[in-house]
Amino acid sequence: MTDILAELRQLRAGDLPTHGGHTLAYVYDSGLSEVDEIAAAAHALASSANGLDPTAFPSLLRLENDLVGRAAGLLGGSAGTVGTVTSGGTESCLLAVLAARDARPGITAPSIVLPDTAHAAFHKAAHLFGLRKIVVPVDAETFRAVPDAMAAAIDESTVLVVASAPSYAHGVVDPIPEIAAAAPARGVRMHVDACIGGWVLPYFAKLGADVSPFDFRVPGVTSMSVDLHKYAYCAKGVSVLLHANAELRRTHYFASAAWPGYTMLNPTLQSTRSGGPLAAAWAVVNHLGEDGYLRLAEVTREAVTRIRAGVENQPGLRILGDPDSTLIAFTKTGTADDGFDLFTVADEMKVRGWYVQPQFAHGGSPLNLHLTITAANHGSETEFLADLTASVTAAREAGPTSVDPAVAAFVAALDPETLTADQFAGLLTAAGLVGDAGLPERMAPINALLATAPEPLRERLLLEFLGALYTP
Ligand SMILES: *Cc1c(COP(=O)(O)O)cnc(C)c1O
Repeated sequence: MTDILAELRQLRAGDLPTHGGHTLAYVYDSGLSEVDEIAAAAHALASSANGLDPTAFPSLLRLENDLVGRAAGLLGGSAGTVGTVTSGGTESCLLAVLAARDARPGITAPSIVLPDTAHAAFHKAAHLFGLRKIVVPVDAETFRAVPDAMAAAIDESTVLVVASAPSYAHGVVDPIPEIAAAAPARGVRMHVDACIGGWVLPYFAKLGADVSPFDFRVPGVTSMSVDLHKYAYCAKGVSVLLHANAELRRTHYFASAAWPGYTMLNPTLQSTRSGGPLAAAWAVVNHLGEDGYLRLAEVTREAVTRIRAGVENQPGLRILGDPDSTLIAFTKTGTADDGFDLFTVADEMKVRGWYVQPQFAHGGSPLNLHLTITAANHGSETEFLADLTASVTAAREAGPTSVDPAVAAFVAALDPETLTADQFAGLLTAAGLVGDAGLPERMAPINALLATAPEPLRERLLLEFLGALYTP
């Protein structure tokens, strides 16, 4: 047994670090070791229990109601507010869309209205559940949704309007009250995606930050999502979808008695649900409590302020929009400093032990690097910024990554619809994405090439890459 665990430990050593604030995407670290210990112990206590039947495992029912109640309290819910614990933010968003669609069975071709900064989870929902997407450009300077444009996009087929608090890519909160004002008048639901901000913005507000209204206190908001595996610092696999009342929730519940087995009753997309993540989240949320989260928000806010100021003072870089929360996206300033590229900056940061996340240009948003800042970043801001300066210098010395114009032209002309599996395999090899040596250390040349590909082609290329990765 120790051999097996040693092997697992060795495999895990090849991953990005999940602790210590060096990975500025994907992971959320409170910096408190006892939080991990209590989560692991609680997870082990309940991972064999099955949320499929709350009457068989009433402990899980109790834990879920506790967490939903806690989330509702944090987000301005009322006595009627109900919710569901899901496996993550994407599942919460999917269920919000499903509930909205199925509440309007009379609409034959339902649609959702999204700002173009909405999380990709809503694109997935539209894809899975067959809804039309009406994607509305955000303001070019602030990256916030434009209420008038959102209102104008609503039509008779619209079942849901979405806004973010904040958006993942730029960390800005959409003008929720103005957007929500238009929805109910048209009989349309309004979802606030607070997956990443819902457990930290309320504490920022308590610390005196100027947080614009974004929760159930805003009239017209019918549902909200908040991920506990983000700023509630819980182990992965837990999010909460809240509905302003039980009637709004009913249409994502599913029952089937149409088979010889147990009557399947599912509040979520899953049926069997591990009690592990739920119990771990319950333990962490109760262990940290209001004071714990307030302290974590305080140090996180300090880290954000310092890192933001450091990036702003860095010649050649500029922050996109005016971030409201814990996320920062920065790009290059205009022309004078064009002698480097951001993909190389990301690679240079990796060499120095930091993971920052490249974001491709989309709509009015230029190519940029994203930082998710958590409590664990507090204390190493100076080191982070010094390494960022060194990385920009190194990227300048390296010069911009050039894509062979002939290759770029070839890629741009490809039609993902007509490419065969063999052609994709050849392309992936040519792009350096698959090969005998595993993933290359430096991603800049690959990212630069991917950046030239139109979005549908980039999606397909990366899916083929994923398929190649997931081959035993
Ligand atoms: C993270 C995130 C999601 C999706 O959450 P997952 O837990 O990764 O499925 C949705 N919306 C926003 C704004 C997010 O930040």
